[in-house]
This record gives sequence, C-alpha cells and structure tokens, in this order.
Amino acid sequence: ADAKSHKQQKKKTTKLGLSVAKEDDFSEWYTQVITKSEMIEYYNISGCYILRPWSFKIWERIQQHFDGGIKKLGVEPCYFPMFVSKRNLSVEEDHIEDFAPEVAWVTKSGDSELEEPIAIRPTSETIMYPAYAKWIRSHRDLPLQLNQWTNVVRWEFKNPTPFLRTREFLWQEGHSAFATKEEADKEVLDILDLYARVYEELLAVPVIKGRKSHKEKFPGGDFTTTVEAFIPCAGRAIQAATSHSLGQNFSRMFKIKFLAEDDKSGNAKDDTHNYVWQNSWGLTTRSIGVAVMVHGDNQGLVLPPRVAPIQLVGVPIYVKDGALGSVMDDALRKILDEAEKSGLRVKLDDRTDKNPGWKYNYYEQRGVPLRVEIGSRDLEAGKCVLVRRDNGAREDCTLEQAGARCVELMDVIQADMLDRARQERDSRLAVVWTWDEFVEELMAGNMVLAPWSLTTKSEEWVKDETKRISEERAASAGKGVDADQETNADGESKKLTGAAKTLCIPFNQPPMPEGTMCFTGCGEPAKEWCLWGRSF
Ligand code: AMP
Repeated sequence: ADAKSHKQQKKKTTKLGLSVAKEDDFSEWYTQVITKSEMIEYYNISGCYILRPWSFKIWERIQQHFDGGIKKLGVEPCYFPMFVSKRNLSVEEDHIEDFAPEVAWVTKSGDSELEEPIAIRPTSETIMYPAYAKWIRSHRDLPLQLNQWTNVVRWEFKNPTPFLRTREFLWQEGHSAFATKEEADKEVLDILDLYARVYEELLAVPVIKGRKSHKEKFPGGDFTTTVEAFIPCAGRAIQAATSHSLGQNFSRMFKIKFLAEDDKSGNAKDDTHNYVWQNSWGLTTRSIGVAVMVHGDNQGLVLPPRVAPIQLVGVPIYVKDGALGSVMDDALRKILDEAEKSGLRVKLDDRTDKNPGWKYNYYEQRGVPLRVEIGSRDLEAGKCVLVRRDNGAREDCTLEQAGARCVELMDVIQADMLDRARQERDSRLAVVWTWDEFVEELMAGNMVLAPWSLTTKSEEWVKDETKRISEERAASAGKGVDADQETNADGESKKLTGAAKTLCIPFNQPPMPEGTMCFTGCGEPAKEWCLWGRSF
C-alpha cells in the first residue's frame, strides 16, 4: 500500500470521524468516542446506558482475568438477590447513613403499595451477611470467600458519565470471612494487587496503590485500600477500584460467629464464640471508561491489545478492475490464519462496497490495535504493510513473516501503551512541601503528593479552600484579567474547577524528614505523604 493513496483516502473520510479534539472539549470528545465506536448507546433514563458488544466484550475480558485471579485465592462464585429489606439495610448505621441518599426503593407492585418498601442493592453487605451468620458455625466453616458478578444501583446526584459514574453499574463484589484479622487483611491487599494488574496488565493504565483517608474510607469498614488512576487530559484522578477491611464491624452487627478450635486467636469474644474478620472489594465497568479516556485520541478509541475484541484487521486495497482481489484476500487470509493460530483475534474486511479509506477510519475509530494492508504493488513485491493504531507507525513486512510479526507487535503495543501512559501520569505528579506550591500545582491540573497531618479538619479545609481559589481564578480568567495560556482561542476559560481531595495515602512513601510540618499550614506535624487532586 503506498503512503500517498493512504493519505488521500484519509482526507476523504475524516468527516466520518470526531468533530472535536480531545484537548479542546474533553467531555464532547468522550461522548463521540464511545458512541461512534459503538461502545455505548444512550438511554432515556438519566445515568443509565446501553453497553453494546464492543464494550461488553472488553468487560468479559476483564471478568475472565480477574475471576481467574480470585479463584486461585480460593474465592467461589455465587448469586444473591438484588433486593434488600429496610431492616437489614439499616443494621450497620455508618454504612446505611452514607448510602441512604442514593438508595432506590421499590414501593409498589402494579397499583398496590407494598406493605414494606424494599431497596435495590447499592452493594450487598447487608444482603449476604445474614446468610453468612447461618452458614458459619465453627472454625471449619472458615474461610468463607464468595464473589458475585452483578449490577448495583446507586442513584447518584453528581453528573452521570458513561462507565465512570452511572446509576446502575456492573461490577464484581467479593465478600470474605476469616478466623483472624491477619488473614482477612492479607486478602484485602492480595485483591488490590489483582486490581492493579487488571489496570496495568490488561488496560495499560498505571495506578497508584494506597489507603483512603478516614473521611474517604468505606462507611462501616475499618480501612479502605484503593488503586487510583489519572486522566491527564482532564487533570483529574479517579478511584479505580477499592478493597475494604471490614474488621469485625459487620460480624458484630450481623452476629457472624464461630466456635474456635482453641482460645489462642485473641479475637473479640462473645462467650465461647469469636466474631469473624471480614473484607469486601469491588471493581466496576468504570474501568472501561478510564481506559478510553487515558488512551483515546483524535481518531477515536485506542484499545490495548489484551482487551481489544478484534486485535488485527486485514484490509485489501483492491484496484478498480478487481483482477487481483481474490489473490489479495488469499494472501491476507494466510497472514490472519497464522496470527489466529497463535491466539490473536482477527478479522478480514473483504467488503467490496466500502473503500479502504473508509475501512481504515472505521477500525481506527474502534481502536483496533493493528491493521495489515495489501495493495497490488505490495503483492508483486511479496510484502504487506502493518499499521499500528497506538502511534500510527507503518512498517513493511514480507508476506512470510507477517503473521509472526503481528503476534510480536501485540506485546510491543501493549507495553508501549502502558509506558506512554505512565510517563504522562508521572509528568503530572508533583511533590510539594508548602501550601503555595500545592495550589500552583493543583491549578496546573496536576496530582500533588504532600506531607500531611492526617487530620479530617485540615482535609476539609483543603477542600473548601481549593474550591474557593478555583472559582476565584475561573472568574478572573473569564473577565480576561488572567490571560494565560489556559484560555483557548474563543476566550473561553478552560480552567479546572472544583475542589481537591485526598486520593490516597500511597503505600510507596518517600522519606519524611524529621520535623516536617503539614503542608496545609495547620500547625500540626506531618505524619504521612498523601496524594491529592481533583477527581471525577
Ligand atoms: P465501593 O463499594 O463504594 O467502594 O465502590 C467500589 C468501586 O466502584 C469504587 O472504587 C469505584 O471505582 C466504583 N464506583 C463507585 N461508584 C460508581 C458509579 N456510580 N459508577 C461506576 N463505578 C462506580
């Protein structure tokens, strides 16, 4: 395929493409990418979206990968009902208090009022644990490690965003019970590792592991661990998945007790019974949206090979009289067959009613990682052209070597995508010591690592103060007072709005010199480095 005709084809077909650039109007760009790639169809209930095959197949890959990981840990699959009685939902007070505003209730069947309204699960602790109390009698019943792949409903009031924040979403929720705190908390971290692997190994999105602040932790739990991702173009972080240590809070409320083998465990006692130690953990369809936002470009979706429904597409460049058509198809088929035998997901697009340029555009928009083209001159020369979606690089390859080269390129593309995303993320992560530096970095759209006192009071102060400063700066930029480069060509302010919050206290802590004070200026000594930022 010669480069010139490729370019001409491209020009003709850009009209089918996106009408905005990622860097100009991020939210419109996102909407176009996910609809034009046929990942999402909008629906007439706000916050609910249709997942089309192109995104659901990605979800299936995530499911397979994670499910394999938890089964190795001994976790078993199950399914619990989606409804929960008011009484059960309210057993753990902190838990229900936090979820209450988002709970959807069923109050009627047909025309008649239900005797007692029932809730649709926002998460299933209060649905599963009464059964745990029945099933767990002795230490022999432990550990109990269950996972279910389900939907949940949280009637969110923040702006809904497909995948990232939806009112109904798909997830897995795992719930384990152990005899000891050590076992339960070890699993919290094992699961967090699996979450990091889903993001880094499958979705090519780098994440930062850490623990949530007291204010941001799961209500009712002892502590929450998280993997945090960053969307550079939006200047916002996102909670990518969470794994909670529940301690004995729920087991006390739901009376999940076991008769211990002996008395050496040191557990809290209820006569001769011990309360179990629990954890719970969830990963949602949010993960797909994070990958779209991190990797997508102005042609559309860019899919990491490991989750792409089609990894390699073959496009023949037929000449007008079609004489060589079947020969081209055969040559492509040979390459694709060989690649398929090595495990690649391939497709030959031999439609004759679409021209090659249209097809390039079609698969680029859908993020297919690699394309193999053959034109008549290529055929004569016994070669083909391979074109990468992630960086547009083209390379010539002999027909004999092409199949193997495509297989090889999948790993290269996957690794390059993670590398690029990590470099970009790292370039947007600032380390500061003082409040002034903090504000400057935050206003530049970065994540900030700062020495913190861990007090909720200073956390709330930062939230209020950053909100105020953001509003002030946005207002002055609007008046044209602050004419820096963050105002685009139309004079419209592109300033980031909204408050910063704690994202996590990273497990990987830089050294903290003695005498370091909290960056907020609250007067307290700093206890740990904390990652802050605006978030989705
Ligand atoms: P939680 O049980 O609240 O810790 O939620 C588990 C995970 O679900 C969070 O870490 C988020 O990544 C994700 N999540 C929370 N709310 C939503 C939502 N409305 N839509 C999609 N994913 C969500």
